[in-house]
Amino acid sequence: MRALTISSHGGLDRVEFRDDVAAPELTRPTDVRVRVLAAALNHLDLFVVEGLPGVTIAPPWILGADATGVIDQVGAAVRDVGVGDRVIINPGISDRTCEYCRAGEQPLCPRFALLGEHLPGTMAEYVVVPAANVRTIPATTPPEIAAAFPLVTLTAWRMVVSRAAVRAGENVLIWGIGGGVALAALQICKQIGARTWVVSSSAEKLRRARELGADEVLNRKEVDVARTIREKTGKRGVDVVVDNVGKDTWAASLTALGRKGRLVTCGATSGPIVDTDVRRLFWNQWSILGSTMGNDAEFDAIANELRAGRLLPPIDTVFELENGRAAFARLASGEQFGKVVVRVS
Ligand SMILES: [Zn+2]
Repeated sequence: MRALTISSHGGLDRVEFRDDVAAPELTRPTDVRVRVLAAALNHLDLFVVEGLPGVTIAPPWILGADATGVIDQVGAAVRDVGVGDRVIINPGISDRTCEYCRAGEQPLCPRFALLGEHLPGTMAEYVVVPAANVRTIPATTPPEIAAAFPLVTLTAWRMVVSRAAVRAGENVLIWGIGGGVALAALQICKQIGARTWVVSSSAEKLRRARELGADEVLNRKEVDVARTIREKTGKRGVDVVVDNVGKDTWAASLTALGRKGRLVTCGATSGPIVDTDVRRLFWNQWSILGSTMGNDAEFDAIANELRAGRLLPPIDTVFELENGRAAFARLASGEQFGKVVVRVS
């Protein structure tokens, strides 16, 4: 089958289109095989190309976590979905037997694995996943949008709804608008009725964020983000910060955070080690919340949003699978607003 692969770690020159990759077969009676229509890129995919500590790949390694497609085979024990169903895929695979899985918290599973990182990815004609990791969607949903939807929406939903529990009227600061998780967080916050403050170094991205409903836009090249927020809120600060930048934004995130504020993080694209003054943490009674991916209930919730035509991700560009390396280059450029998608079939 056709697939986008790497056979060793390094730069984007390692990303290789091949048409001789063996198609995956069902291995468990609870598996389904999906004929992929489109796949979408995430920062995770760039990290996989570079190489992640503790993760070894078996070449040719198929890239990609996000996808949409049509089920073309089901295992004998599969009940809820069938051949011909259009589905989205939750890229987080868990064992479904440990204490966390049984408590409905699959992302905490000690054997949690991600498509494209620990398991063969989605940028191929076929991918095999547990039936529990797919949800049906209307066949009328454009494949590019459905492919772009699961990982960022699931991640942002858990951050904003489950972990930070954002409420109507609260002020929320979102860094790096233009990135997929940040945009999904903006859309979810607007749906809740929160007041959003979004940050970018690009005037064009801020203009487009305003079109998506951002209330306040801050160009970090032109203003001191934390100081501006404190001024404009009468020194009160925001209730919630959505941060996936890490090292470069941490200090400003905490300066912008008001009393009893919640900082929720799902990533550290600028670096993982940060400074926190514990005295300010307890005095202000802040909550620092980690979050990653989402559980089955959250996947159900976002699938319902997609079925209802809500929280549709902005699409930056669409590439053909054969030209997948250019899609990776587009994501690596940081210039994208919204999702970079690869059309598979
Ligand atoms: Zn588990």
